[in-house]
Amino acid sequence: MNEMSQIKPPGGAATPVLQVTDLKKHFPIHGGFFGGTTGHVYAVDGVSFDIMKGETLALVGESGCGKSTVGKAILRLFPITGGQVVLDGTRIDDMGAGTLRPMRRRMQVVFQDPFSSLNPRMRVRDILAEPIRNFGLARNARDLEERVALLMDKVRLPRDAVGRWPHEFSGGQRQRIGIARALAADPDLIICDEAVSALDVSVKAQIINLLQDLQQELGLALLFISHDLAIVEHMTHRVAVMYLGKIVEVAPKRELFAAPKHPYTEALLSAVPQPTPGVQRERIILKGDVPSPINPPKGCRFHTRCPYAFDRCRQEEPPLRPVEAGHLAACHLHDRPEAENPLAGAKGAKLLAV
Ligand code: SF4
Repeated sequence: MNEMSQIKPPGGAATPVLQVTDLKKHFPIHGGFFGGTTGHVYAVDGVSFDIMKGETLALVGESGCGKSTVGKAILRLFPITGGQVVLDGTRIDDMGAGTLRPMRRRMQVVFQDPFSSLNPRMRVRDILAEPIRNFGLARNARDLEERVALLMDKVRLPRDAVGRWPHEFSGGQRQRIGIARALAADPDLIICDEAVSALDVSVKAQIINLLQDLQQELGLALLFISHDLAIVEHMTHRVAVMYLGKIVEVAPKRELFAAPKHPYTEALLSAVPQPTPGVQRERIILKGDVPSPINPPKGCRFHTRCPYAFDRCRQEEPPLRPVEAGHLAACHLHDRPEAENPLAGAKGAKLLAV
């Protein structure tokens, strides 16, 4: 069984909206006397996942792990080094600009900073009308106006605010405009790249609720890229955890939060506050910094920071494989007898009564 076939969401036989297979993006490093290539940044190094219609997959990990590069590679903001990206059954990673254009409409993005991603010299009406015009979605001027008004309704902003400029809105309202602009193209997939990270806590919750409502109403597939597991707990169906250019664990949200099967996920979760009073996770502080993606460690890439590393981890790279139904992890611990595996069964939960 190849890696791709293992990372399908549980349940559905339908074609996924997005299929990413063994995606690689290696950025060349130029230098030396003649300006040649002196090495590569292995930003994304063999990543595979699927997302179904109406599903949210959260891609999480520390800054620099490659998660935003995955999003940009899917959007074809640069050529990829290897692998495949398939949108609704059609391979798009090798398409020329002309053929790609109609596919671009179907995948949109919401960025972290709504202020810098909205043109300050355009009124909201024009920001929302631009993708509708570009993709030829309106029959006439009246239809265009009606579509813009409906987009304002969808993101719960007053229709008469279309004449205002981006700087006249709060951060949360600007992010609603960013979401409306993404919806204007009538997409199947929206990539939210740290889309709520810059917002205040209460505004974050409002934007997450809005995204969830829109997903239910429109059947959108969402790739939610975030460094913050506490946020994704409230909005995703499945979680994929990335470390140094690779996915190290994928599982339905509930299973992953209840009992992580990779030591890196376990450490990330240990920092997430528990909603139940009197209960918290045993905090795991990882030693050292994330190694450089220019020269990733041999064997398991996490072995330089892993509290459970043993000899095999330094020699052999663990494949991402099923450890329970629908739950994949890349860790040699799962080849050990249960008594010697600190993450076997429900042990990964490590909840403490305080
Ligand atoms: Fe830790 Fe070894 Fe598992 Fe890597 S393979 S996460 S180093 S125990």
